[in-house]
Amino acid sequence: MKITRFDNGQVGLVVDDRIVDVSDLLDSDVHAWPPVAMNRLIADFARFRPALEAAAQRPGVPLSSVTLRTPVPAASKVIAYPINYHDHGIEMGRDLRATNLGFFLKPPSSLCGAGDDIVLPDLPERRIDHECELAIVIGTRCRDVKREDWASVIFGYSCLMDIVVRGKEERVARKAYDSFCPVGPWIVTADELGDPNALRGQLWVNDELRQDANTRDLVLDIPGMIEVASHIMTLEPGDIIACGTPAGVGPIRNGDRVRIEFERIGGMTMKVVQSDGGRASIFIPPAP
Ligand code: MN
Repeated sequence: MKITRFDNGQVGLVVDDRIVDVSDLLDSDVHAWPPVAMNRLIADFARFRPALEAAAQRPGVPLSSVTLRTPVPAASKVIAYPINYHDHGIEMGRDLRATNLGFFLKPPSSLCGAGDDIVLPDLPERRIDHECELAIVIGTRCRDVKREDWASVIFGYSCLMDIVVRGKEERVARKAYDSFCPVGPWIVTADELGDPNALRGQLWVNDELRQDANTRDLVLDIPGMIEVASHIMTLEPGDIIACGTPAGVGPIRNGDRVRIEFERIGGMTMKVVQSDGGRASIFIPPAP
């Protein structure tokens, strides 16, 4: 099953090239704030599933006629593993890997979806990069998950870009801007995707292929990422794990079109736009 949000927060199933509004089947107001309808759907998915499967027969509307939003805007946290492919560690000149570094957090306010733009802050003197990552969406509240039990806590998978201002300032600040965490275009449920441990992911800027890698080359693999994060924090339904980027990170600029694609998930193309806001004093001048 492919599931996401669209337009004003409606929840939809993606069936071929159609989207079917299933908001009426949920016990949440999809327009309410905070936007937790997807968290609640994920937490209670077994109960909703039969009705959702039946709804796939509804006519729906063409996917191209709606604006896709990020699937889980109220994730309680986005857990991101840095330096988790050797080739990216080498290109960044870093010795340590995610197996020692663990993770950092991106704020849920940085999430955006396939129909949104990546909005650059007004920092023309700074390099702002794309990173192509697989997103894991947690399905079950869990703590201290054993490595061999990793699959039992996953709801599904999506594409994720970890956008970053390069520099020496605190990593979280450099990665926290609004729109710096595109996730989408939808979540593919774990049962439909199958084994995520050998999944090809690619990213293009305009028509140039910048990143092309496979999750089999992750340093800390998916079971390991679940194990580490859940031994530190309770993971909640809808929490997102960004698996780390391979080599090929590079700058994005106003007017670029960035496309991310994972096999068995799909892809999304997003526009990069320049804003005149976001000129935080910590970035000017750059930290020495
Ligand atoms: Mn990253």
